[in-house]
Amino acid sequence: MRGAVLYAPGDVRFEERDEPQILKPTDAVIRTVATCVCGSDLWNYRGINPTDQPTPFGHEYVGVVEEVGDEVRAIRPGQFVVGSFFASDNTCPNCRNGYQTNCLHREFVGAGGCQAERIRIPLADGTLVATPEPPSADLVPSLLACSDVMGTGWYAAAAAHVQPGDTVAVVGDGAVGLCAVIAAKQMGAERIIAMSRHASRQSLAREFGATDIVAERGEDGAARIKEMTGGIGADRVLECVGDANSMRQALRSARPGGNVGFVGVPHGVEIEGTELFYSHVGLRGGPAPVRQYLPRLIDLVLAGAINPGKVFDLHLPLSQVAEGYRAMDERRAIKALLTP
Ligand SMILES: [Zn+2]
Repeated sequence: MRGAVLYAPGDVRFEERDEPQILKPTDAVIRTVATCVCGSDLWNYRGINPTDQPTPFGHEYVGVVEEVGDEVRAIRPGQFVVGSFFASDNTCPNCRNGYQTNCLHREFVGAGGCQAERIRIPLADGTLVATPEPPSADLVPSLLACSDVMGTGWYAAAAAHVQPGDTVAVVGDGAVGLCAVIAAKQMGAERIIAMSRHASRQSLAREFGATDIVAERGEDGAARIKEMTGGIGADRVLECVGDANSMRQALRSARPGGNVGFVGVPHGVEIEGTELFYSHVGLRGGPAPVRQYLPRLIDLVLAGAINPGKVFDLHLPLSQVAEGYRAMDERRAIKALLTP
C-alpha cells in the first residue's frame, strides 16, 4: 500500500509502505475512505518539530473496517468508522472520566501514519465509532472533521465551560478555530467573536455562527475584545493556535471569572504565574478527548445540524498529499482533504 512519508522539512513523499497488520488481538485494520493534513502536521513540515528519519504521517481518518483481531467485539468488518488520533480502551478510569486522550493504555494512531491507503487501529473497540449505516459521500468530509478538528474545537468550548448566553472569543481562524465557533454556537453562546484577518475565513466563521469579527491581534486584539464587552473581557476564550502570542491574547481577552480553553499544541508558550494569579481566569486545555464527543458529533453531522466538513477547501487525491501540505503551509488552503 502507499502512504505519505515526511523525510525532512518541506519534503513529503507518497510512496510504497508496508501493509498494516493486526499486531494485537484488540487491533483493527481499516481501508481509508478519507484522511487529511492537520495544522499540527505543519509544525514538522516547517521544521519547528525536528524530523530525524523518514516518518509516516497523518492522524485523522475515516474508513471501512477490513479486518479485526480475535478480541474485537463491537467493531466488525464492513462498518464505516470514525476514530480519534489517540487509541483508547474507553474503559480505564481516565476514559470513564472523559479523558480518553489520557487513557492508561493509549497509543498514538498517527504513529503508523494515517495519510495512507490502510491504517492499523489499536484498541479498536474503544477507539472507533461506527455509523449506523455507510454514509453518503457528501457527509464524509464532516465525519472526517469529527476525527480531530471538530472534536478539538468542541473540547476547546467544553474546557472553557461555554454556557448558554455567553460571549465567546475564538483566537485562531484555522480549521480548529472555525470548528470551535460551531461548538460555541451548539452550546448556546449568544455572542461569538471570531478573531481573524482573512476574508474567506471570516465568512466561514460567520456561516458557522460567529456574530462579530475582530481583525486585530495581540494586545490590540485583547483591547478590542474588552472594548466590546463593557471593559471586562469575554466570558470564555477558545485558544486554537498554540503560540506565545495567541495564548497571551487569549488570557488577556477573558474576563475575571472567565475561562480559557486551549487546544493549540503549545510551542514556546510560557504562562506567567503572577499575571494568571491576579487575572482570576480559569485555564484548561490539552489534547482533545475526541472519543468522548464522537457519538454526539456523528449524530449532529448525520442530522445535518453541523457541517464542519466545510473547513476542507481543498480536495486532492491522496497521491498529491505533498501539494496538500504546500497549500496549507502557504495558507492557500484552510485544510486539505485527501482521498485514496
Ligand atoms: Zn482508557
